[in-house]
Amino acid sequence: MTASRVLVVNSGSSSVKYRLLEMTDGSRLASGIVERIGERQSRLLHFPAGAESSDPASGGERRERVEEFADHGAALRAVAEELAADGAGLDDPRLAAIGHRVVHGGRTFTGPVLVDDSVLREIERLIPLAPLHNPANLTGIVTARALNPELPQVAVFDTTFHTTMPEYAARYAIDTATADEHRVRRYGFHGTSHAYVSRRTAELLGRDPSEVNVIVLHLGNGASASAVRAGRCVDTSMGLTPLEGLVMGTRSGDVDPAVVFHLVRVAGMSPDEVDELLNKRSGLVGLCGDNDMREIRRRVDEGDEAAALAFDIYIHRLKKYIGAYYAVLGTVDAVAFTAGVGENSAPVRSAALEGLEGLGLCVDDGRNEAPATGPSAKEPRIVSPDGARVAVAVVPTDEELEIAQQTYALVSETDPAADPAAGR
Ligand code: ADP
Repeated sequence: MTASRVLVVNSGSSSVKYRLLEMTDGSRLASGIVERIGERQSRLLHFPAGAESSDPASGGERRERVEEFADHGAALRAVAEELAADGAGLDDPRLAAIGHRVVHGGRTFTGPVLVDDSVLREIERLIPLAPLHNPANLTGIVTARALNPELPQVAVFDTTFHTTMPEYAARYAIDTATADEHRVRRYGFHGTSHAYVSRRTAELLGRDPSEVNVIVLHLGNGASASAVRAGRCVDTSMGLTPLEGLVMGTRSGDVDPAVVFHLVRVAGMSPDEVDELLNKRSGLVGLCGDNDMREIRRRVDEGDEAAALAFDIYIHRLKKYIGAYYAVLGTVDAVAFTAGVGENSAPVRSAALEGLEGLGLCVDDGRNEAPATGPSAKEPRIVSPDGARVAVAVVPTDEELEIAQQTYALVSETDPAADPAAGR
């Protein structure tokens, strides 16, 4: 039997998200989430094929379990049980591999890798660079491996797509010896999304990724921009950590680094308190109390000044990055908006490009504001006018599909039972 399925696992500190995909057509066979792992009332929500996780109206078939899942092991065992109940457990011969999202791959991992003991040791060695994420990612892999030691496990890293950045974009201008000793450099994140969206944008233009330059704007609760030349990332806005760059839901993005010294010395804050301030109580939420762009726009429309200023600061930063990456690329074929805000907020797209007509950038108001609903909402579309010098595109991201595709491509190279034609 051909093994043409991939299970994607995204282990967070207290949650596990998963999606089972059929790689011959990219369809979703099941998905779900286990939340509040380690608490007495953990919850597993399982969506078999046909029960759309994002659509409550079709939630009739979903299954829910509220019980204590003491650790990731218990959570993943429960996920395996739910999949087995659908006839697709971890021992199913149709399952080719499990693809795991891992946040930080450092400089070591420049592509997806088949997990072995040395890979696990390296992910562990990178924990100081991603203390909130890599431990949970690692636990997910170790647990899944224990459940079926025969099944290939593949690690796909958020940082990989950015490892092509030239040294002059990846280095901070600080003392080289200090930077090297402590691995201080710009790594970038959201890489699977930037990879997927830049490739899909080229497809939308009917061209090969090697022929186009794209600025990708991933605007979710976390947000990052990247400059992609001929399919390779040459710059991105997140750095050593996901704090650098754009204004985000709760993160400040760029600040003068001396803000930190000032808060430590003058306000008497501890480094951990400043960390928490800049990551959790800044960005849109710090500026106006809300981090949901829908709510901010509603308040702007009602004349709320704090919301209007927060929106303007968000847009100003975004515009500066568009201009910077335009300069980095020299020639730009497309600007692609993606993730929750990028895909859904017409006001953000039009405001970010306002006044940039001289760069060949503008939206067609009718196209930009046309509501994307139903299955077509997930289809990429052009929102610039016909004949525009630079295409402006809305390209829904799909990080799980990208992880599954990278996983499947890797195991197809090594496993003759997998069908190589089904990978892309
Ligand atoms: P995450 O970074 O958590 O994966 P998403 O990409 O799902 O985030 O984006 C979540 C954000 O998208 C929300 O906080 C909200 O600001 C924004 N968002 C979602 N739907 C809409 C919408 N219809 N209009 C404007 N913003 C939206």
